[in-house]
Amino acid sequence: MSFIVGIDGPAGSGKGTVTKKISNVLGLINIDTGSTYRCVALEVLNQGVEIIDKEKIIEIAKNIKIDIEHNQEGDRVFLNGIDVSKEIRSKEVTQIVSPISSIKEVRIAMVELQRKLADGKDIIMEGRDICTYVFPNADVKIYLDASLEERATRRFKECQEKGIPMTYDEIIENIAKRDENDKHKEIGSLMVAEDSIVVDTTNLSIDEVVNKIIEIIKEKK
Ligand code: C5P
Repeated sequence: MSFIVGIDGPAGSGKGTVTKKISNVLGLINIDTGSTYRCVALEVLNQGVEIIDKEKIIEIAKNIKIDIEHNQEGDRVFLNGIDVSKEIRSKEVTQIVSPISSIKEVRIAMVELQRKLADGKDIIMEGRDICTYVFPNADVKIYLDASLEERATRRFKECQEKGIPMTYDEIIENIAKRDENDKHKEIGSLMVAEDSIVVDTTNLSIDEVVNKIIEIIKEKK
């Protein structure tokens, strides 16, 4: 039987960094569900589809082929066979991904794909609705949070390191907008599951968060 750790939380709460580290330490397969929505957003841009054209966006989501290749150095994401690991982090994708992920049919298609990616494996899956919707019976449920300013500061540093040209003001505005949008979706809204353990990472180092969650997982295993 598979073992499932779900990590939810808003942008910049540390989900990505922390899940990667935990997956390496505990040998769990890391599935970043945000990357699936980002692939749909990238394909929408690639095909020049208008953000208001819901029908076309739904068609893209239903027909898209997404694969995640797991590597020690970092996972790679393939969209219709092409490595798009870098492109899905671009400013353009980041700006349109949240409204795209709000479309009910897009979510249904992506959740089906996410469950398939996890099938039969021991995984750590990060997103917004993992513990409430994708895997409501996950073995371990964590909700990571941090103040808006701290999350924007982290994302700003990350963008600088990756050479993504976004200012701090653009980032804080984008995160605030995404938070608002992510909390008000028809299905799969960002929220704390009743039985999730909330970890506020504002004043914790990455290693402190990692160790805390590893302890929680070991207790449950
Ligand atoms: O986590 P990341 O910032 O890469 O996610 C990109 C966007 O995808 C989020 O802003 C959110 O709108 C959407 N998302 C979602 N449900 C998930 C993961 C991400 O709606 N499980």
